[in-house]
Amino acid sequence: MQRIGVLTSGGDSPGMNAAIRAVVRKAIYHGMEVIGIKRGFNGFIEGDMEPMHLGSVADIVHRGGTILHTARSEAFKTPEGRARAWENVDRFGLQGLVVIGGDGSFQGAGLFHREYGLPVVGIPGTIDNDIAGTDFSIGFDTAVNTAVDAINRIRDTATSHERTFIVEVMGRDTGFIAIASGLAGGAESILIPEQPFSLDDICDKLCRGYRRGKLHSIIVVAEGAASGLEIGKQIKERTGFDTKVTILGHLQRGGTPTAFDRILASRLGARAVELLMAGRTSKVVGLVAGEVVESDLHRVIGEKKKVDLNLYRLASILAI
Ligand code: ATP
Repeated sequence: MQRIGVLTSGGDSPGMNAAIRAVVRKAIYHGMEVIGIKRGFNGFIEGDMEPMHLGSVADIVHRGGTILHTARSEAFKTPEGRARAWENVDRFGLQGLVVIGGDGSFQGAGLFHREYGLPVVGIPGTIDNDIAGTDFSIGFDTAVNTAVDAINRIRDTATSHERTFIVEVMGRDTGFIAIASGLAGGAESILIPEQPFSLDDICDKLCRGYRRGKLHSIIVVAEGAASGLEIGKQIKERTGFDTKVTILGHLQRGGTPTAFDRILASRLGARAVELLMAGRTSKVVGLVAGEVVESDLHRVIGEKKKVDLNLYRLASILAI
């Protein structure tokens, strides 16, 4: 294999740059050429692509976002759009493709592989951590640390003012970020889409805490479980406690990636190139029990990753 393409697609996540760097440098190390494709599948369709060199990825390992930019491309969902992308594969002489993104990006890559046979390897990059075949996706650790940092700050003011704070975190329809940040941040309650919750129970717990002299409470709400604003309103109505709501939103998507995410991205990026070189395509690379592994792309697309309910229960026990 002489020339491969790399793109980032879907929502950006901290550590994508470290993954791009690893793909480019590992490929060059093995004598290959890399074409950077801009703005996800949109750039693929429009031919917005250019050769990348060692210097193209200098000074990016610590930066959030993605130097290749990312996008959601409706056109790539159409046969016509993918046919145009195939013309660019031909034009740029690509023999393989690395796609860094989430589940949707892998669906697009999988379809393209099926239709045109271009070898593809996916690297999981999303803060939501909702991709099967890996314990962690690139950006999750940074997003959790950002959320925990915010909870720490909120805790200071919650204690000073004797308030109840609701912190809404991201995660789409999963509770990965909520469980991890809630446990690490010492939240009283964590609301996730995977588990039913009772506002009566939550309010009882708040009142019990108040009676034994607790000055503050923090409740972490996954965006997929409920609206933080609505939960705050209801708790205030039921308990009369001064309740404030903070929605962390896109704060969690940016920022300098943690060392964990940089190392993960470097390992996965390098393995993706190795797989393409070895002719092992239509794969997703991931980290399972500390080891870099490969999974079948189509299996990963079809599988729903489950949150660790033991971790969820532990957070609940420790916040008794
Ligand atoms: P994130 O988890 O951060 O949202 P994602 O990769 O899941 O990332 P999506 O918007 O779902 O984000 O998908 C990214 C892009 O992948 C889409 O805009 C589209 O171009 C392509 N894509 C998604 N699903 C398909 C599909 N079924 N067929 C072809 N392309 C697809």
